[in-house]
Amino acid sequence: MTPSPRTQPRPQRPLALDEATVRRMSARVVASGPAQERMTPLTGETIGALPTSTPDDVVTAYERARAAQQEWAQRDVRERVEFLTRLHDLVLDRQDELLDLIQIESGKARIQAFEEVLDTAGVCRHYAKKAPSYLAERKALGALPVLTQARTHYLPKGVVGIVAPWNYPLSMSITDALPALAAGNAVVLRPDEKSSFTCLRAVELCDEAGLPEGLLQVVLGDGPNVGGAVLEHADSVMFTGSTKTGRIVARDAGERLKSASLELGGKNAMYIADDADLTRAAECAQRAVFASAGQLCISIERLVVHEKIADEFLRRFLERVTAMKIGVALDWGYDMGSLISADQLERVTQHVDDAVAKGATVLAGGKARPDIGPYCYEPTVLDGVADGMLCRDEETFGPVVSVYRVSNDDEAVALANDTDFGLNASVWTKDVARGRAIAARIRTGTVNVNEGYAAAYASNGAPMGGMKASGLGRRHGAEGITKYTDIQNVSVQRLQGFGVPKGVSQRQFARALSTGLRVMKKAGLS
Ligand code: NAD
Repeated sequence: MTPSPRTQPRPQRPLALDEATVRRMSARVVASGPAQERMTPLTGETIGALPTSTPDDVVTAYERARAAQQEWAQRDVRERVEFLTRLHDLVLDRQDELLDLIQIESGKARIQAFEEVLDTAGVCRHYAKKAPSYLAERKALGALPVLTQARTHYLPKGVVGIVAPWNYPLSMSITDALPALAAGNAVVLRPDEKSSFTCLRAVELCDEAGLPEGLLQVVLGDGPNVGGAVLEHADSVMFTGSTKTGRIVARDAGERLKSASLELGGKNAMYIADDADLTRAAECAQRAVFASAGQLCISIERLVVHEKIADEFLRRFLERVTAMKIGVALDWGYDMGSLISADQLERVTQHVDDAVAKGATVLAGGKARPDIGPYCYEPTVLDGVADGMLCRDEETFGPVVSVYRVSNDDEAVALANDTDFGLNASVWTKDVARGRAIAARIRTGTVNVNEGYAAAYASNGAPMGGMKASGLGRRHGAEGITKYTDIQNVSVQRLQGFGVPKGVSQRQFARALSTGLRVMKKAGLS
């Protein structure tokens, strides 16, 4: 049974950006290299050309960023976050324009582009409010109570180099730069070539929101050369992309002894326990598997279903999947859009064809849909995926999910953990205590109980990121901003120091200090 989803018409209006916009955006890039044409996956047509940056341009971008950062770092954090409050409103006010750009560059459905607007506004709001307390000077108990006054300070690293991926053109391009700037750094940002126009529009909105000139530099060009140069000159590295590239970035940062935050791939599982609300679980599974056509690092690629409810859950899930509206129109009302490129289409096709050739069964989808858009692929559900099939262990990063049946929670946890990755997981049960207990046994950076990915990701006060091969470091929350700082301990010693006082023997001194330590323990001082 491979029912086809409903198809939808192509965009009704030209997708190319007007010349004045392209010229204005090009001027915001530090680039002296040749212009490179960009294409929309919605139709395959050219949308405009942007210049490329040379290695010298990257050096220039760092020089400008370093010059601007000196003064910025001196400002009070409350002043530095003011632009975030204004950016929050601008992103919401200009959302139609942003949604068009995101759709044009990524091919995703408008409702999924809207997630990026929500995310960006949420990050602005969160750090505008919380950065001052996250970065506040903290008192710590001194070595000698009363006599030692210890304080912790968060100093900006300097210039943060960011290499962003293509899958969330707005969110992934700009939201990691915002806490870096709020912490007193400047940023050199290299968005992916497939998402540069959206990134540049977001950068223009930062300018409009009052971010001082020079602090946010943009360079454009390929990953290994221009991306590599951005990371090479950075005082702190922020990379989002595949685990394979992440290992290269980590190795290079290690050699230079620079901090690196790496948000990498996932092979995320959703467990539907026998007491789950199946209506909600089926609705959520459809969203969490097929969001941005599965090109989301935290999307679900493995459905682990308790055997007692497996048939009923699958009936409801497949009913939803086969009714999905796929389309490439710049309009609301579609459940899924296109993949971003021919490479992505090839990868997805290879994973599905490989599984089928080795004995997996297609429960829904399983075909490319060039009749809808050049890189469209049907939402696909596979059963019988086993060891040796590419999609069993590798990240597909497309609209493809495999179904596994288990007979208890232990088997579900073992299967969820049976992967090199550790990014996100989801657990469905009406018993929240059971959900929390299962979550505690799953080795992923986020676990959503009774949601797929949105609950954890959109909780900006709580950090998100990967365990195992899914990365190092966290975005969001206190960890998402303090990672862009060097923590300094300033301890002031008054009166008696740590030397042996005159007239006291070393033995007496050691005895007195040992007594002091016992008293501190008794007093509960830490
Ligand atoms: P990729 O690693 O090939 O590329 C990611 C980005 O890095 C691209 O912009 C690329 O041009 C650039 N790049 C490539 N080689 C580089 C190098 N040597 N130095 C510096 N930059 C380099 O990944 P991809 O396949 O294009 O993107 C999809 C992957 O990204 C998936 O694995 C996905 O899970 C992951 N991802 C993770 C998150 C997260 O938050 N964990 C978010 C989005 C995407």
